[in-house]
Amino acid sequence: MPNIINEIKLDFKDVLLRPKRSTIKSRNDVNLYRNITFKNSKQTYEGIPVMASNMDTVGTFKMAHALAKNGLFTCVHKYYSVDEWKQFAQNHPECLKHVAASSGMSDADFVRLSDILNAVPGVTFICLDVANGYSQHFVDYVRKVRAAFPTHTIIAGNVVTGEMVEELILSGADIIKVGIGPGSVCTTRMKTGVGYPQLSAVIECADAAHGLQGHIISDGGCTCPGDVAKAFGAGADFVMAGGMFAGHDECDGEVIEKNGKKFKLFYGMSSSTAMDKHAGGVAEYRASEGKTVEVPYKGEVQNTILDILGGLRSACTYTGASKLKELSRRSTFIRCTQQLNNIYS
Ligand code: 5GP
Repeated sequence: MPNIINEIKLDFKDVLLRPKRSTIKSRNDVNLYRNITFKNSKQTYEGIPVMASNMDTVGTFKMAHALAKNGLFTCVHKYYSVDEWKQFAQNHPECLKHVAASSGMSDADFVRLSDILNAVPGVTFICLDVANGYSQHFVDYVRKVRAAFPTHTIIAGNVVTGEMVEELILSGADIIKVGIGPGSVCTTRMKTGVGYPQLSAVIECADAAHGLQGHIISDGGCTCPGDVAKAFGAGADFVMAGGMFAGHDECDGEVIEKNGKKFKLFYGMSSSTAMDKHAGGVAEYRASEGKTVEVPYKGEVQNTILDILGGLRSACTYTGASKLKELSRRSTFIRCTQQLNNIYS
């Protein structure tokens, strides 16, 4: 008989952060930098743990450069050649500590990842990204990468439940990417019926990871700076976004003009657009699980960065957290029936 979990699981939109009495004078006094030492790699990271997704429109070298200047992180997409990586490393060596090289789990992916890491020793983060982090094949792949790169920090995902977070950490991963189905251009929930409300997934997975001295990324579903604050409040160590970083100058793709308005193309990595581009089309045995959309052109990403960081600082001020690290300890979520007043939107 199918089992039903009756306890309600929540998304970012279902809650608000409750303000708390605080002694912080100004948003300027809030420290968004975190210092994290990872469980398996033993490496230490220092930065603002907001990340651009390893999607090919968003996880670009231009994005990595712009984000790193502000202390933010980029999971660079897996389609750059070794030569392009070498060139990036030569031009912007200071950015390398704020980027990860991404890989899927095919043999070709492993060869390409190894070539990049051997050619550019300054890259110490690896992002192992598959749509379904629940397969034993993926666990074995994490073990293989850990054995080959014992001191690199390994990001692995995506999963949404504590037991799989633990399994991946015990298999050698340092940071687990959490999120199945919340993404802005994701159609997994519609195509498969599978998923987990993101706020609850983050709360539960952070608890599992932290119990083992591991860390997590909340990946997907952030639509505004407030959602980023809620993800950190829920216990995420890092927050990854695709859509919020889409549509900027630093993204891949041309500006499209329609009726005097400017747009840029943004698409899911399992969309037919991505599969046509990188895999010669959608294989017959699988459905496309991503959308292709035209997002309004937003200019330089610097404005968006400041918007996100300003929102985060303000969330810390309202909750009395002088450091981002304290936000989850100071977070109480209130369930709500209406998050925003949409009268003028
Ligand atoms: P967003 O910040 O746009 O809401 O979500 C970004 C995340 O969506 C990515 O980091 C990735 O985990 C996920 N994603 C990207 N492309 C696809 C796709 O084609 N299908 C699915 N299911 N998820 C995707």
